[in-house]
Amino acid sequence: MTARARRAPSAGKRTASVTGAGSAPSPRFDEAGLIPAVIQDAATGQVLMVAWMNREAYRRTLSTRRTHFWSRSRRELWEKGATSGHTQEVVEVLLDCDADTLLVKVRPAGPACHTGRTSCFFQPVAGSAGESVFSVLSEIEAVIGDRRAHPRPGSYTNYLLEQGIDKICKKIGEEAAEVIIAAKNRHPAQVAAEASDLLYHLLVALCEQGVPLAAVYRELVRRHRARPPRPSGG
Ligand SMILES: [Zn+2]
Repeated sequence: MTARARRAPSAGKRTASVTGAGSAPSPRFDEAGLIPAVIQDAATGQVLMVAWMNREAYRRTLSTRRTHFWSRSRRELWEKGATSGHTQEVVEVLLDCDADTLLVKVRPAGPACHTGRTSCFFQPVAGSAGESVFSVLSEIEAVIGDRRAHPRPGSYTNYLLEQGIDKICKKIGEEAAEVIIAAKNRHPAQVAAEASDLLYHLLVALCEQGVPLAAVYRELVRRHRARPPRPSGG
C-alpha cells in the first residue's frame, strides 16, 4: 500500500461506521470514505488484486455477492467484470484486526488483471520464494488466452487452435504416450520434459473448451478436501 499512511493512534477515537448488520464488525473507512480490499482466490489462496471500496461498493459487494469497487482515478463505482465478464463471486469477507482492511475471498470467473494475468501481482521486486506451480500454470494459461485473442504468425499455440480440437486431442494422446515411455524407461528428466509437454497441450485444450484453469483448481481442492482422513496421517 503505497499512498496510504498508517493511521495514527489518535484516530482511534473515530467511531466505527454502521454498515454491518447484526453483530458483524463494521469496516472503518478512511477520511476519504474508502477502505482497501485485498482480493484472494478462495480455492488457491493466490492474492489476485487490491482495490478500494467506498460504502456503496462495500454494500453492493455484500448484497450481490460480486465484488464492486470505487475507482479513485475515474471517481466512479465499478463492478469487477462488468465489461470483461471476469466477475468475482464472493465466498467470504473478513476484516483485519483494526477493521481498516478487507480480505475478500472469491471464485473468479477469469483473470483479475487487465493484462490477462490471473493476478495483478506479477512484478518481482525483491526475494524469490521460487515460482509456484499455480503461478506458472496461470501465466501459461494467460499467454495461450492472449494468443487466441491476438493471433501471431508462426505461433505454435495459434497453429493448434486453428487446427481445432481433434488436433489438440491427438497431441494430448501423443504426449501422454511419451510420458508413459519415459516413465517405463525410468528417465526422470525425460518424464519431466514430456509431462511439461502434456500439461501445455492440456492447457491449450482447456482454452479451446472455454474451461478456466481455476475450474480445475477448484475441482482438485474439492476432491482433496473431501478425502476421508487416513489413520496413517498420509
Ligand atoms: Zn492488474
